[in-house]
Amino acid sequence: MKATSAPSRGEGRTRVGEGREVGILSVSMDLGAGRRGVDMGPSALRIAGVAQAIERLGYGVREIGTVHAPGQEEVEEGEAVARYLAHITEVCRQSHSLLRGALADGVFPLVLGGDHSLTMGTGAAVADHYRDRDQPIGLLWVDAHTDMNEPGISPSGNVHGMSLSVLTGRGLPSIAALASARPAIDPRHVAVLGARQIDPREREAVREAGIRVFTMSEVDERGLTSCVDEAIRRISDGTAGFHVSFDLDALDPMEAPGVGTPVPGGFTYREAHLICEKVASSGGLLGFELVELNPVLDAGNVTAQVGLRLIESALGKTIL
Ligand code: MG
Ligand code: MG
Repeated sequence: MKATSAPSRGEGRTRVGEGREVGILSVSMDLGAGRRGVDMGPSALRIAGVAQAIERLGYGVREIGTVHAPGQEEVEEGEAVARYLAHITEVCRQSHSLLRGALADGVFPLVLGGDHSLTMGTGAAVADHYRDRDQPIGLLWVDAHTDMNEPGISPSGNVHGMSLSVLTGRGLPSIAALASARPAIDPRHVAVLGARQIDPREREAVREAGIRVFTMSEVDERGLTSCVDEAIRRISDGTAGFHVSFDLDALDPMEAPGVGTPVPGGFTYREAHLICEKVASSGGLLGFELVELNPVLDAGNVTAQVGLRLIESALGKTIL
């Protein structure tokens, strides 16, 4: 294992640079999504060279492992209001356990997905690690969606649209129980950035939960810099730092076509980088996950390349 050293940054070191290795956990799962294919996201990022890119930044890399979900054709769907819930729960349980172990060893967690339901295990693991130290964490949720659906509210029954609801203690108590407390993350410490497609009953859930959502309309109105700065202030206030759950559908499909649920009107390549650069320079990053990369819908692995560049920015790569 290579010795770690932080890349130098003008604004100070990122939390990830405090002499820690970057541990990579791959979660190969598409059970939570409406379309097949995001289970191949981790492979596409490997092909794009994610481990080598992290080493070039000066970090050591530790392979935490890969959690493989069964294919949708191999297992029973279960109840239509939360499709494949039993199997998703098992994947999240394994992801939670592997990540807790890696965090205990002091590595910085980088999770490659996989559909967004995986965060019910990984986000909970980061929260639990710091809860053991009596420190709450914040959560930056970069996504075209708020993923605040619940069974009976969700029009599709796709569990990837329920993941933030579970992390914030509302939906699916059976899977929320993977975390050592409920909610895993206090809604006051959560900020959603880039939302532009929210189901009607999901809006009520967002309002009730008190989560701060920076919609794309607000970003357009106020400017991205102002919104990201406010989001980071909010999730850093009174917390140990924050986890970033980055759904690639936050980007515009013109720039990132290979995603599970494309929605027009997303962030440009440069805007997405600005978000990640601000995350790095804040010094508060505790974990990062990149989800919903769908190689089946991609064009020549371009979306994986974009994802890789975003990971580099979040880990502190700068132009100068
Ligand atoms: Mg999502
Ligand atoms: Mg999404």
